[in-house]
Amino acid sequence: MANEDDVISIADHLNAVRLQVAAYEKKYRRPSHSVTLLAVSKQQSVEHILQAVQAGQLMFGENYWQEARPKLAALQAYPIEWHFIGPLQANKTQKIAEHFAWVHSVDSEKLARRLSEQRPAHLPPLNVCLQVNLDGEASKSGVSIEEAPILAAKMACLPRLMFRGLMCIPRPGQHVTQQRQVFHRLSILYLALKTQFPSLDTLSMGMSQDYEAAIAEGATCIRIGKAIFAA
Ligand SMILES: *Cc1c(COP(=O)(O)O)cnc(C)c1O
Repeated sequence: MANEDDVISIADHLNAVRLQVAAYEKKYRRPSHSVTLLAVSKQQSVEHILQAVQAGQLMFGENYWQEARPKLAALQAYPIEWHFIGPLQANKTQKIAEHFAWVHSVDSEKLARRLSEQRPAHLPPLNVCLQVNLDGEASKSGVSIEEAPILAAKMACLPRLMFRGLMCIPRPGQHVTQQRQVFHRLSILYLALKTQFPSLDTLSMGMSQDYEAAIAEGATCIRIGKAIFAA
């Protein structure tokens, strides 16, 4: 059971993050409200998500279908927009195509095709971002900057997907300057692709530890977990 301290705490954290985002928009001369806040609810209970909903948050991100399934079911009555942001596995694409409005973590043609084929006809096209790996580690998800334009062209042609933008999860950088250098590379790629694909409007980058740098470099969607939900 949620107690009243929890209620105050999540709403307070949410408001603090909103104020901080507004301050960074100003500091870096971004238009106000140009950065959207996606609340990352992985490992959070339905009660905690509900507290954020009651504080006006309606966009949530989840990483795993197994974990998300009971939460989506329990929160069906609320007008929540669910974003899938975790590693994509081929055997989960069907459920994700059926239950989510967005997928941020598309990183192969095969997964993109499956999502397009499996998107139910009665729903609008699935909004997708291409995940780019900026650290160059072979083990991590995401395509390289060099590969990104090729996959982007393929994604843009799939009938049941709406290609919206790029996403990254860089290795945590120590300072804002260092974090900005990494985000800057995605921002350059985003602006280049945008001239070719007019549907692009989303640069999904920045988490609790680095969202100032992400906003400075043009993020339009920041994905925040700990700063909202951590006790
Ligand atoms: C967990 C997670 C986040 C949020 O990270 P915090 O540090 O908790 O803000 C954002 N994006 C992805 C893909 C994540 O897995």
